[in-house]
Amino acid sequence: MAQPPCPICKTSATIGSVGDQDVFHVVCPVCGRYNITGTLFASDISHYAPPFKVSAGLRSLHEANTVQTLSTSSIANIADLVRPPRDPIDAIDTILLYIVSKSGRGDQFVHMEANAEYPIVCAENPSEFTFYLQKAGDLKYLEQQGSSYRLSLVGWERYASISKRIQRSSKAFVAMWFDPSLETIWREGIKSAIEMAGFTPTRIDLQQHNEKICDRIVAEIRSSAFVVADFTGQRGGVYYEAGYAMGLGIPVIWTVSRLDIPNLHFDTRQYNHITWDSPIDLQENLLMRINATIPKPIHD
Ligand SMILES: [Zn+2]
Repeated sequence: MAQPPCPICKTSATIGSVGDQDVFHVVCPVCGRYNITGTLFASDISHYAPPFKVSAGLRSLHEANTVQTLSTSSIANIADLVRPPRDPIDAIDTILLYIVSKSGRGDQFVHMEANAEYPIVCAENPSEFTFYLQKAGDLKYLEQQGSSYRLSLVGWERYASISKRIQRSSKAFVAMWFDPSLETIWREGIKSAIEMAGFTPTRIDLQQHNEKICDRIVAEIRSSAFVVADFTGQRGGVYYEAGYAMGLGIPVIWTVSRLDIPNLHFDTRQYNHITWDSPIDLQENLLMRINATIPKPIHD
């Protein structure tokens, strides 16, 4: 039996229904796993956002082990999660980060088919991805075995300089719900722990941006050494920002109020959340986690 096409990228996919809701679960080799509402499924996707951008956003969430539901209201946010590369070097760097994230060890090869992997760099089509892959080969960054790739020593040197650029930053981006009930958690818990660890916290009020990931948020995350994502209140924007940071290889520290654990999105429970009962409790544990896992910023 022929498989139905993914409503976003039109590749053969596995599509099932979710309970008795008007929602479908899609497993697509290009976009990854996602849910889509019946209304959007029946619509013309390109009416809401360019499909290749939606594929890229869904794939970044999939790589971050997060399943989101695509609806007429969330589709634009998801399409904005990933930006097309600024230039070929930008795309090549993303490919190197992807290979490292997929390979346990330096000697392992990672299978990549342009047909399935093009959304990783937010390419418009497989041939654009093939172009970047060939250029990465021209720069001698990759070793190839059939359709599998690993970094060469030159590639590892490039990877080290990309990582250093991230680690040299003294900024920490905070993704959280901007609710008055969490003001003390921000001030006495998150902000103070980040400052005690020697970093400068930044947060951008999502409400000012209609919960959409704007260019400023993207720029802030890109230039941060790490991200603290607090999931209390289950805000969609927090999931997006954490997924975006993970896609860039930027470490994410997950926190949540103990009272909110039962509400956590299923697929994020596997991450080692810091659960907090009070601002002081959060401050102590977050400081410990930053000190243990994030390299100290290098000040010039
Ligand atoms: Zn797809």
